[in-house]
Amino acid sequence: MEPGLVGLWALVTGVGKSIGCAIVQVLHAVGTQVMAMSRTRADLDILACECSGVKTVCMDLGDWEATEQELGGMGPMDLLVNNAAIALLQPFQEITKEVFDTSFDMNLWAVMQVSQIVARGLVAWGTPGTIMNISSQASQHAIDRHSIYCSTKGAQDMLTKAMALELGPHKICINVVNPTVVSTPMGTVNWSDPQKVKTMLDCMPLGRFAKMENVVGSILFLLSDHSGMTTSATLPMDGGFLAT
Ligand code: NAP
Repeated sequence: MEPGLVGLWALVTGVGKSIGCAIVQVLHAVGTQVMAMSRTRADLDILACECSGVKTVCMDLGDWEATEQELGGMGPMDLLVNNAAIALLQPFQEITKEVFDTSFDMNLWAVMQVSQIVARGLVAWGTPGTIMNISSQASQHAIDRHSIYCSTKGAQDMLTKAMALELGPHKICINVVNPTVVSTPMGTVNWSDPQKVKTMLDCMPLGRFAKMENVVGSILFLLSDHSGMTTSATLPMDGGFLAT
């Protein structure tokens, strides 16, 4: 089944590595025109070489004004994938205001700001669109030392529903995916303790963490024509973890 995304424009954030990079590769392969955004120029240059025609934007999403300037000036995007995020872990009693602010700025405010920019363009042009937020299993399940990360992702799930409510009348669909651990720099740093991994996998009916292609495949489906009646959905990719 073709996803029906040929010729559409997609903005993907945090594409320098890992899941974001894989999303760009798959969108490029199915004929989507991609605006790939991240903060390390060398990563973007490699991606642009691998995927010819992909346009790149190098900026820090933590900079509100730069985001407004860089992304506000791009043409209308049919699709948006809010992928960039950070996971800063601290024991609850040691959480600092700095980690709180940086995490919420990146994982919630930047998601909202970039979505606003894209939604305004779609509404102005009167064209339908799709926004995907990349949340986490951690949005619905408390994990040791993950208070801030869990809270940002829980807020992202609810933001997705609120956006779906207000943007639906403009034919804009918004959904969120909730992967379990994926083997990326973020996943590896935070899941290096074998006991922590075992505790999680013991509660997972499928007994394994997610592969990159599991996550990217579901995102592609939710961006495609085939899920055109789905909005405000949270899609677990957790090997059944939340069923236990
Ligand atoms: P990752 O390996 O840490 O990659 C994140 C990407 O985002 C990098 O290219 C990074 O650029 C970029 N980025 C970070 N901060 C940025 C900023 N301020 N401005 C612009 N770009 C920025 O992360 P990942 O594991 O692929 O995670 C992708 C998404 O999946 C996130 O939303 C994450 O919460 C979610 N997720 C991940 C897992 C997991 O286990 N990996 C599980 C569930 C959900 P630099 O490298 O240049 O900093």
